[in-house]
Amino acid sequence: MNIAQRLSSVVRDTRLEDRPQQNEMAEAIRQTLEKGGFLMAEAGTGVGKSFAYLIPALEFALKNGGPVIVSTHTLTLQEQLFQKDLPLVLKALEKEGLGSASAVLMKGRGNYLSKRRLALALENNQQMEMGGGASDWLKIQEWAASSSEGTYTTAGFPIAPDAWQEIKSDPFHCLGPKCQTFETCFYHSVRRKGYGAHLILVNHALLLADLALKMNEEQGVLPPYSVLIVDEAHHLPALAAEHLATAVTLSECLGLVKRLLYTDDKSKDGKKGLFALIPVQGAGEAVMHFKNEAEGFFNQLGLAAIPLSGQNRSYPMPENPPSVELIAKPLQRIEGLLEMAESSAPSEELELEARGTREECRSLVRRLSYILERGWGDEACYVVDPDGGALKRGVITASAVKAIPLDSSSLIREHLLTSQKSVVFTSATLSVGKDFGYFKHALGLDGPDEADKVKTLLVGSPFDFKKQVTLFLPRSMPHPRREEEKYVREVAEYVRASLRHSHGKAFVLFTSFKMLRQVLETARKDMDEMGITLLVQGEEGWDRTRLLKVFREDINSVLFGVNSFWEGVDVPGEALSNLIITKLPFQVPEGPLVEARHARLKEQGLEPFQVESLPEAVLRLKQGFGRLIRTATDVGTVTLLDPRVTTERWGRVFLSALPECEVVYLSKPGTPEKSPATKGALTTKTPRSPRTAKKQID
Ligand code: SF4
Repeated sequence: MNIAQRLSSVVRDTRLEDRPQQNEMAEAIRQTLEKGGFLMAEAGTGVGKSFAYLIPALEFALKNGGPVIVSTHTLTLQEQLFQKDLPLVLKALEKEGLGSASAVLMKGRGNYLSKRRLALALENNQQMEMGGGASDWLKIQEWAASSSEGTYTTAGFPIAPDAWQEIKSDPFHCLGPKCQTFETCFYHSVRRKGYGAHLILVNHALLLADLALKMNEEQGVLPPYSVLIVDEAHHLPALAAEHLATAVTLSECLGLVKRLLYTDDKSKDGKKGLFALIPVQGAGEAVMHFKNEAEGFFNQLGLAAIPLSGQNRSYPMPENPPSVELIAKPLQRIEGLLEMAESSAPSEELELEARGTREECRSLVRRLSYILERGWGDEACYVVDPDGGALKRGVITASAVKAIPLDSSSLIREHLLTSQKSVVFTSATLSVGKDFGYFKHALGLDGPDEADKVKTLLVGSPFDFKKQVTLFLPRSMPHPRREEEKYVREVAEYVRASLRHSHGKAFVLFTSFKMLRQVLETARKDMDEMGITLLVQGEEGWDRTRLLKVFREDINSVLFGVNSFWEGVDVPGEALSNLIITKLPFQVPEGPLVEARHARLKEQGLEPFQVESLPEAVLRLKQGFGRLIRTATDVGTVTLLDPRVTTERWGRVFLSALPECEVVYLSKPGTPEKSPATKGALTTKTPRSPRTAKKQID
């Protein structure tokens, strides 16, 4: 029985279409789970890949025991899986008599409220400022009493970060089974459920946090597992570098100061924090000293690492960073005072707070020493991040110092993948022109040992791109780097003409805010005149969710977007029928991490552009292209305004990676009266796919 038939018994009022691609993918996953090994499965838009892995995953877990871990990158997909897809699959399997399976959604520990810490903060009137005052604490109390999940995002109202630090669940301040609220504890309850579940749904951040803990031989968050399914898998390699990094931040130091002792002008005695509850002689002075030293340390670090004309990006850690002693010494003093507080604490609760905070101090010093002493040797890149807010005011100071592993692929392979029986990676973008080499390399699965174990599968979209999409390519556009000004002018001209013709209904995707603003300048007047709503990423008060909501509702609107609009955005129907991609999405090769990675590739005799920059940009373009067609009835145009796809030798790699569709070459892009939608007037209509079009370029 195919997937659609199996699900149709539990879906009312909707006829599910049989999709051979979905069945093929489900069968490949079933075999991988049974036989073991790695499967990389790329599935085009509309395949319905979530059902293609959820059904075999749960069948496997029902037969062999769980848990199967399913990991996603975005919250949107996680919510869709947990709220929509999983309930259907669970019902369908039960109806088939396969048994009743259980699935649990697990988030990172810091997302859960600690009931004990909340009670402690309330009892001792130790609340951090919430901005809104005492009523907000009342709201937290009410929410904590009624919430079934107890995670930050389910509160439904904002909780100030300082306040959350004070009441969230964390390993340093947890009593475990000795805690009075252990049985109903949000975090431990979900963990217990996870131990008995057939499937645990997590995000990549938690998957990697669990890995980082286990790498340090600490207790992980997830129970032992041997089957892993990674959706949106193209994000995993980059996230691994970020999440396996070791970091110390100034805000972490200042948060610690606040929880130790701070002056609250509004309260009667004016003092709050742990040392206000357990007074210890000299604590006030010691905490202030630590605060000053921490600020001084990050200030010195910033001045040594970041140039005066610095931008908001990472810089290499200086050869001679400020001494760790600046922070370690005052913290050691505080540790001693916390030890005294621990022994004189009036309750077990406060004793635990003091002990946990001591452990936090030790962890901070350990991490800082590790980074400053370059504990990873040449295997990591050591960087300093500026304080972006201060930078805007013309002040140079650092906000964080980090050690980021250079070869996260070997860590993923060694610690995450090779210990699993079966791992499935899936996404709409894993291959570059049907070649999975880049993704295999990024995960460290390209060695001879893995050659037999890694299988790949490519299932195309069930949509008819040849009928649904026309791809416009410019015949002559200025070079985006060599003739930047001219190029931006022509892009602006083209965008205006195209938007006039389609009367909005468009996404215009950029690779930088700078260019977005340049094009916006000329487009705004036109849009105003035509009454078209212009939505712009980065404008104050407009977050991604709000921009998308208005874009979907107002079908004549236009959205100018950078970064996050290239993927994970789903706008079916007419509202998005004109997609303009201004420039090929190459990552700007700046910043110490990229430079260090590229230098390492060169040492290995590899060309960074070929093995990293190009495939990364191709996958990103595929994601961007994928925004247009979301259903079988969607139609529209994609315009790619970067001439390099036809003028550079490597340009064909981009074109051959896109789905086959009608290609139209623009002979005079940017002429307003003759916009691309007047097909034929100014264009050479070439009813060929990008794949066949490349022959013409040769
Ligand atoms: S068990 Fe730990 S995390 Fe849970 S409420 Fe108690 S102290 Fe907080």
